[in-house]
Amino acid sequence: MSKILIIGAGGVGTVIAHKTAQNHQVFGDIMLAGRTKSKCDAVSDAIGTKYGNKKIQTAYVDADHVPELVALFKSFQPKLVINAALPYQDLTIMDACLETGVNYLDTANYEPKDEAKFEYKWQWAYKDKFEKAGLTAILGCGFDPGVTSIFTAYAAKHHFSEMQYLDIVDCNAGDHGKAFATNFNPEINIREVTQKGKYWENGQWIYTEPHEIHQPLTYPNIGPKESYVIYHEELESLVKNFPTLKRARFWMTFGQEYLTHLRVIQNIGMARIDPVIYNGMEIVPIRFLKAVLPNPGELGENYTGETSIGCRIKGLDKKGKEITYYIYNNCSHEAAYKETGTQGVSYTTGVPATIGALMFMSGLWKKPGVFNVEEFNPDPFMEQLNKQGLPWHEIFNGKLEV
Ligand code: NDP
Repeated sequence: MSKILIIGAGGVGTVIAHKTAQNHQVFGDIMLAGRTKSKCDAVSDAIGTKYGNKKIQTAYVDADHVPELVALFKSFQPKLVINAALPYQDLTIMDACLETGVNYLDTANYEPKDEAKFEYKWQWAYKDKFEKAGLTAILGCGFDPGVTSIFTAYAAKHHFSEMQYLDIVDCNAGDHGKAFATNFNPEINIREVTQKGKYWENGQWIYTEPHEIHQPLTYPNIGPKESYVIYHEELESLVKNFPTLKRARFWMTFGQEYLTHLRVIQNIGMARIDPVIYNGMEIVPIRFLKAVLPNPGELGENYTGETSIGCRIKGLDKKGKEITYYIYNNCSHEAAYKETGTQGVSYTTGVPATIGALMFMSGLWKKPGVFNVEEFNPDPFMEQLNKQGLPWHEIFNGKLEV
């Protein structure tokens, strides 16, 4: 049995705590650590031993500080650490892993606090160090990035000789009853959705104004929803790992109400990430905004509806004939809440992170270096998605709309 350390007790960390406890025969000792220990304690108390697991241990750690992480890793001695805190902490946690010989997994790529720009270059630069240390780092193991990349790898392995067009489609058709809320950390979410659009076409990145390209797309069991091309981090590694792609885009649905709020937030300066002086002290407007917005981890109670996320792919099948392929998962907010007390977006992120950890612990996804999830064998992961609460479906030669 192998010890696992989860850092961050927000919505995603809560789901990972439930799911690792459900799989206690693999994980054994589980620890949940974070900056606010009372949040970790509350999650551990809510889970208790209800899955036949040992009670989840908790600890305080500020993951911005490598020495604090090193001390915690040395005392608990985990085999793997899952970063369910924020992307800002990716590099400090990876540094601490290297110092103590611990393996690493996360769900979002690093971005500097003072620049809203996420890129893999910072984490890919750790490849040699992880290789030399004989340690595995698994990057982007949530739903998107994560399952969308594994769906793509699965499609390439089983259905295509040449993938040419990839459109990742992400729909949240849920209703949480609030005028405005984000489904995961507001600071990271608003930084992501307000930046310029960007997609890959014929060997280069094409830039657009934010939300410039949009059209309705029809989602299974949901119907048509206005969908917008935005830049999303998995595109960077997917076009590198699947070089036959002529075009790769990412679409996300937004309601008019959400977009209006977003525009106002930007126009009045509340999305600013640089410090301003207020009453003689420095505050960062977007962090202040986070403090007054609903906590995404607590949206679940009245959340109705479902998410639908998948990949629409066009290209040549194994025999060289043109095909279209759509693979997707739908996840109900109510079902996610019933099982873990959190909403569907936390659930669809935390379940894949746990499956990634299962893959590592069972030796199926273990190789020295730093890897995006599509670089591993997708088959055992796909099998676990069906078992761990995120079943997937395929449509062959349907109309892709994109
Ligand atoms: P939350 O804001 O709900 O939770 C983040 C948690 O991390 C909080 O408990 C917070 O503690 C803790 N934390 C923040 N900074 C530190 C620190 N320096 N040291 C220790 N703990 C810290 O976020 P979510 O759970 O919604 O999201 C978590 C991550 O998942 C994010 O990185 C997000 O980008 C990623 N994500 C990935 C998705 C995917 O599909 N790949 C989809 C959705 C999210 P405190 O409460 O004290 O601030």
